[in-house]
Amino acid sequence: MTEHASPPPFAAPAGCHAQPADAVLLALQTSHEAGIASVEAARRLDLCGANALPPPPRNGPLIRFLLQFHNVLIYVLLAAGVVTSVLGHAVDSAVIFGVVVINAIIGFLQEGKAERALDAIRDMLSPHAHVLRDGRRQEIAADALVPGDIVFLASGDRVPADLRLLDVRSLRIDESALTGESLGADKSLSPVAADAALGDRTSMAYSGTLVSYGQGMGVVVATGSATEIGRISTLLGTVEGMSTPLLRQVAGFSRLLTWVILGIAAAAFVFGTQFRGYTHGDMFLAAVGLAVAAIPEGLPAIMTITLAIGVQRMARRHAIIRRLPAVEALGSVTVICSDKTGTLTRNEMAVQRVICADAQLRVSGAGYAPHGGFECGSHAISAAEAPLLADIGRACLLCNDAELSLQGKEWRIVGDPTEGALTALALKAGADPRLLREALPRDDVIPFESGHRFMATLHHDEAGDACVMLKGAPERVLSLCSASRRLDGAPAPLEPESWQRAAEQAAGEGMRLLAVAERREAGQRRALSFAAVEEGGFTLLAVLGITDPPRAEAVKAVANCMAAGIQVKMITGDHAATARAIGEQLGLSREVKVLTGAEIERMEDARLAEAVAETDIFARASPEHKLRLVEALQARGEVVAMTGDGVNDAPALKRADVGVAMGQKGTEAAKEAAEMVLADDNFASVAAAVEEGRTVYDNLRKAIAYILPTNIGQAAMVFCAVLFGLTMPITPAQILWVNMVTAVTLALALAFERPEADIMARPPRDPAEPLLNGLLAWRIVFVGFLLVAGGMGMFLWESARGATLEAARTAAVNALLIGEVFYLFNVRNLFGSVLSRDGFLGNRYVLLAILLLAVCQALFTYLPAMQRLFGTLPLGADEWLRILAFGILLLFAVEIEKAVLRRIFPQGEARAH
Ligand code: ATP
Repeated sequence: MTEHASPPPFAAPAGCHAQPADAVLLALQTSHEAGIASVEAARRLDLCGANALPPPPRNGPLIRFLLQFHNVLIYVLLAAGVVTSVLGHAVDSAVIFGVVVINAIIGFLQEGKAERALDAIRDMLSPHAHVLRDGRRQEIAADALVPGDIVFLASGDRVPADLRLLDVRSLRIDESALTGESLGADKSLSPVAADAALGDRTSMAYSGTLVSYGQGMGVVVATGSATEIGRISTLLGTVEGMSTPLLRQVAGFSRLLTWVILGIAAAAFVFGTQFRGYTHGDMFLAAVGLAVAAIPEGLPAIMTITLAIGVQRMARRHAIIRRLPAVEALGSVTVICSDKTGTLTRNEMAVQRVICADAQLRVSGAGYAPHGGFECGSHAISAAEAPLLADIGRACLLCNDAELSLQGKEWRIVGDPTEGALTALALKAGADPRLLREALPRDDVIPFESGHRFMATLHHDEAGDACVMLKGAPERVLSLCSASRRLDGAPAPLEPESWQRAAEQAAGEGMRLLAVAERREAGQRRALSFAAVEEGGFTLLAVLGITDPPRAEAVKAVANCMAAGIQVKMITGDHAATARAIGEQLGLSREVKVLTGAEIERMEDARLAEAVAETDIFARASPEHKLRLVEALQARGEVVAMTGDGVNDAPALKRADVGVAMGQKGTEAAKEAAEMVLADDNFASVAAAVEEGRTVYDNLRKAIAYILPTNIGQAAMVFCAVLFGLTMPITPAQILWVNMVTAVTLALALAFERPEADIMARPPRDPAEPLLNGLLAWRIVFVGFLLVAGGMGMFLWESARGATLEAARTAAVNALLIGEVFYLFNVRNLFGSVLSRDGFLGNRYVLLAILLLAVCQALFTYLPAMQRLFGTLPLGADEWLRILAFGILLLFAVEIEKAVLRRIFPQGEARAH
């Protein structure tokens, strides 16, 4: 803020790191307890601007347009245009230049569209921050933060602005983005020396760094470009280029092809002038025509747009792609490892069973509504009858960070659903949150982390005595307990076996288990450490059975994946029996096999690689196990998609072929490590993304199978003419025209092609398989041959009937294009039949493209200006009939070829559709 001409009245003092926190709060006119008011925040936002760094510089439109000409082919064309004009062929040269410019405009527009699509998707991932405003905790977009905002930090968060810390709980921050130091920095509250280096300012949290552990709270002292990271203008989230291995493969292939073709064209020039008696001028034009005809200059652009459309479609199905190569990898995924809670299950938790030392109670009620009661057998139990319920309610409420609120008619939670369910239970047991929090204020907390599987809070009562509330995974809590209590509140000895039996039974029914315990301590304790919890001596109050049913759509998606040859494996922190029951409900396999985290730890890598193949569920697994599992699966040659949400999941997400982060409950750390983010945290969206990934790959192959035969057909026509010393059946200008209209109309329509009906009934694609495999190469040559036969045949036929050269060429060009129109229908399904209503009418873009092409061809054939430019003449009904007949013949020829392929390769990719 110091950079403002007249500093606003709320500016942070210089060197906040060296100031006491209170001084910074005072200078920023904000408070620890209430933050700033929303109105004030809006005013500050006006004054300071959004909390965002300027976007990375991009090429301006002019440069992007000029870059369209930066291509070997275009250089060749431009050179050809110059030479043609020097040779006095003004019209040909004008057409060449005209087409080059039109191609550049089209390329520019398509690229712009693809980039906009990706930008829009990137915006969907903009980060959020938890702040205190108007005395309430709220979630706001991180770019709306202003100096003076009080921000909460939790592990996995990216620090959204520069903060002077006000509160830290084991807070450790990875500041490598700023300082290059990869070891996490432990934070504290005390001011540091004014001249401390950035990495030593432990009282600060800097924008762009990652919370790797613990929790904290701080006041915003600088936003946007005023932050440290803004000053050194390091860019967060650099913009990903629009390139993928496949695109690079295609670009490399096109480049190679360009040179090969230029070589052939040069050879044809020598051959034509030396052995066929063409003049140098004519042969030069023919060689240019040959080169232009053969080079698939539209291919890279079509590939990019196909990918971009795929990415857009995935976003519509809640899968947001962060890195383009993931689109390709998704198409060949063979294993999906998924979290359970919230991804495969609904994450709508409800406590349905309370297991106590001397009874098991059923809990009634629906959702998070705090209405319902307790029953033992058929007998309703009141809170007065069972004093233990009040103790359970108290522990559930105090060792809890979730809030319940009534929105309209529905009870909603803010916070963790497991904790929301406990709050609802506490309210059913008659607990009063306000009174309890006043009577037993919280002094400290050890937040829940899946690594240690418990949460503990420290409170003190009026007398100043301490009380520790503990909740967590039963085996963890049970090991810290030495007593329990009966329903009537009387002490009871702890009988671990009977607790375990009851817990196993509930877990076997698919319930998530959580134990609650408390420990009263005489004397004061103001801070809670791990060691203090692990001293043990807790009284076990209850084990709670929480239901979280599978998502109906996940059950369907699992079945779809299995039909598509993709294994689904569940990795969960939950109890093995719970996970097994849920796995069975999801239909993970006929006989669900479970491996626990402890077993994974005991296994050598080689043994684990064997075990992963037959295991469906990994229970009580920690994020660290996920990395080993990905590696074990990859060692078996699997292509792995892995979901995750926590900061510790990041290494596994990075390592997986497709790392998938949760958009809602996922941390920034997980999102940044992932290739894909699920907007709805739903497993079904992973399956949808796989389907779209397969579709994109199909569509890329369709584009290749479509564009290359056109090039082969045209080039072969020119080549045949040179070889046999015939008149050129098609002029270079006409070739350019054909290339242009097919690339912008027909081929583009394929990018919008929907998934084929059986796309999820095929096995995954081998990632090593080249885009252009044997069958596809055959198809390209076959159709190329048909197109030559049609175009050349029409030219020779018309010439034989005495038509002028111009009329014969016009017929040949139209035959070529009509052949391509019909082939466009064929290619909509690479190997399945398209002789159906859907085959012809299923893609409206195809119909639109054909309409556009019809208009173009009408102009090309009948408009006098075009006739002069391209040397065309009007055709009569007879000619059109013959051309149409050729198109229909081609359609059937390809359909017959497909049927034959399906017979020859019934099991391969051409198997019956
Ligand atoms: P997944 O990895 O599939 O999301 P999960 O969410 O069930 O599985 P964790 O969140 O790691 O796995 O939870 C593991 C166990 O920790 C649970 O079975 C439960 O006993 C306990 N637990 C979960 N949430 C809390 C919480 N907020 N406080 C205390 N204990 C919890």
